[in-house]
Amino acid sequence: MRDRPIYLDGHATTQVDERVIKAMMPYFTEYFGNPSSNAHVYGWEAQAGVKKARDAIASAINAEPREIIFTSGATEANNLAIKGVAEAYFQKGRHIITVETEHRAVIEPCEYLQSLGFEITFLPVEKNGLLNLELLTKTIREDTILVSVMTANNEIGVIQDIEKIGAICRENEVIFHTDSAQAIGKIPLDVQKMNVDLMSFTAHKIHGIKGIGALYIRAKNPRVNIASQIQGGGQERGYRSGTLCTPQIVGFAEAINIALKEMEQENQRQKNLRDYLWQELKQLDGIYLNGDLNQRLAGNLNISVEGVNGSALLLALQSQIAVSSGSACSSTSTKPSHVLKALGYSDELARASLRFGIGRFNTFEEIKETASFTLQTIKTLRR
Ligand SMILES: *Cc1c(COP(=O)(O)O)cnc(C)c1O
Repeated sequence: MRDRPIYLDGHATTQVDERVIKAMMPYFTEYFGNPSSNAHVYGWEAQAGVKKARDAIASAINAEPREIIFTSGATEANNLAIKGVAEAYFQKGRHIITVETEHRAVIEPCEYLQSLGFEITFLPVEKNGLLNLELLTKTIREDTILVSVMTANNEIGVIQDIEKIGAICRENEVIFHTDSAQAIGKIPLDVQKMNVDLMSFTAHKIHGIKGIGALYIRAKNPRVNIASQIQGGGQERGYRSGTLCTPQIVGFAEAINIALKEMEQENQRQKNLRDYLWQELKQLDGIYLNGDLNQRLAGNLNISVEGVNGSALLLALQSQIAVSSGSACSSTSTKPSHVLKALGYSDELARASLRFGIGRFNTFEEIKETASFTLQTIKTLRR
């Protein structure tokens, strides 16, 4: 028996990498100045830290530094992108297209805009969680101002064809936003190649800290206009006022740098662990894989289990394995995951689901233990 369960909830958050903490430390104590202070060295040092971080994050997605706007995370970045576009372009049109399987941080701002008189189309997905691109093309209208489709899903890990979606949006002259919270540092991202206009990020899904993220806002070819949602001192080119949190920003860039440097090797390692876990679990009858196996994040496995009660399953696992069912925010409620419902599952199968999120610090030994404990638990519950 373990004193603490094996952490396999990497889509909810991740353990902070020591290297990230190390990069942040001097910016708490030594370089603590306000990066907006221009009159002295304390300000310049902080400014230099922010500049270096901004350059690194921009280059990670083939953007320009001025196109990166720091936010408190992906929730805020999504809100800024979606409400910001709605407010800036409502005279052009009031139709927005998104997808049923998006994170709540996209769905809720869209529903809010609906209450203000915008028309939102929530597109369904195929059985494998992927968006039908013909359906998307057909749904775009004269008055469509924004398409928002996430890069990688936080529950089932499926990766949408962002390059093709970007091409469709560009051809129809519609602004394209993608929530890349689960994708940055895990798959290559290139806002030029993918024709992305707005891209949301967060640090804490890639071993950075909670409370820092960014929004990429395209500045040319074409320039995208958004209305700021937080007014004040005019930081971040007026898009997002508030004193910049230098240590978090520096740590965020370090988290991205590490993830990119180790991406190929780490993806292969995580994929091996994930595939092993799936090979083991699927030996039992009535275990279903949720979402496409190939177009998927390396560290994600999401399954539904027939013949067991969802909350009983989680309860039986939680002393040994920290996983969640559905999304983190809905795992305490008894509501089945809206993502699994969108795949066409019954409430019962959607509830009896497990999301394994394998991360940088998980070992093969842990995955072996996870496989055997999960199998044993399911067998016991089915009896
Ligand atoms: C975690 C997550 C968010 C929210 O990010 P925060 O930084 O916690 O606000 C948004 N979208 C996706 C896809 C996520 O996985």
